[in-house]
Amino acid sequence: MKDTQLYQQILGLTDPWFVKDVELKIGEQRVDISVEHRPDATFHCPVCDRACGVYDHADERVWRHLDSCQLKTFLHARVPRVGCSEHGIRNAKLPWAQTRSRFTLLMERMIIDVILRCSTITGACQIMRVTWDEAFGVMQRGVMRGQERKEATVVKQIGVDEKAFRKGHSYMTIVCDLERSTVEHVADDRKAESLAGYYAALTPAQRLGIEAVAMDMWEPYVQATTAALPLAASRIVFDRFHIMKKMNEAVNKVRLGEHRELSALGIDTLKGTKHWWLYAEENLPERHTESFAELKADNLRTSRAWAIKETLRKLWHYGSETWATKFFTRWFGWAKRSRLTPVKQVADMIKSRLQNVVSYCTLRVTNGVAEGLNSKIMSIKRKCCGFRNPDNFKNAIYFHCGGLDLYPR
Ligand SMILES: [Zn+2]
Repeated sequence: MKDTQLYQQILGLTDPWFVKDVELKIGEQRVDISVEHRPDATFHCPVCDRACGVYDHADERVWRHLDSCQLKTFLHARVPRVGCSEHGIRNAKLPWAQTRSRFTLLMERMIIDVILRCSTITGACQIMRVTWDEAFGVMQRGVMRGQERKEATVVKQIGVDEKAFRKGHSYMTIVCDLERSTVEHVADDRKAESLAGYYAALTPAQRLGIEAVAMDMWEPYVQATTAALPLAASRIVFDRFHIMKKMNEAVNKVRLGEHRELSALGIDTLKGTKHWWLYAEENLPERHTESFAELKADNLRTSRAWAIKETLRKLWHYGSETWATKFFTRWFGWAKRSRLTPVKQVADMIKSRLQNVVSYCTLRVTNGVAEGLNSKIMSIKRKCCGFRNPDNFKNAIYFHCGGLDLYPR
């Protein structure tokens, strides 16, 4: 078998395309394959797919293909241009590559697979022997294809979360599909507009189909949701983990204050106990159980704050909003009489938005999925060695977490 025939088979080229020439350059570790078409062939308009005659040829282009026996393999061809009566002169569709890509379809698929599985982009680049920019181009095109192919299906449960892009400042808003665990939207900042952009891009049917929106108690998100969704008030659920986090912070503040006072008197009862108070009671490691029980029995303010916090957790066990509200009313009275300012503040915060806290009893959603995606996003950030450009970061998030069909066809 001649080398041209061999590559014709390997590349899977069919009429009118054939391999004209194969040049092996061992010194450069590469194979160059020249591809041509029958002169009388007709091609298809890339827009309407109509069969057209060849108008002329564009300059020669080169595509990188999968390596053959460790040798970098390149395909050379002059792309025929067709004259479509409707769309004018256009580059014909090629069977081995998509427009604008410098890689053949198989190579691009392979790069996508390797990036998805490698823990760093640099690693993927080394394996595939491509540059960082090339790898990013592949990711970008993959995301673009995926988003074009994505159908306007209804996402019933969404989670909205903020993510610090650089430490301390510069936030991003992330909207995810809580059922599929995918990122649906990434936007700059954490303002009302950040979320409004997501809602605005949906069809009316998609907006109507949203049954639950899990989020932190963050006013701009509430505003954007209220403005965009009908019956938003009954669809927003403030994330229970976020509320409990606030409650834990309150317990910690009480402990800090009390510890300072006791230390001044030379009593170090609370020293080194920070985490004991923050555990959910059943999660406290067994080795601390006894000491913690003794500590709780002391008449401490921290102990009271802790008991109020632990009791609040029952709120999310109720099956009906009415019962949950009744429970909360009792709990609220207790919290308010506690004379513990941080605790009272959290109690007020919950009360001001109680409807969107007890809505959990009906809708049963939390942002747990979003938190999981969050850690995946953090690993993407590490994988790409930190992003200077937020658009590249967004793109990488969609690439890895968007649930998109990335492959060229
Ligand atoms: Zn056409």
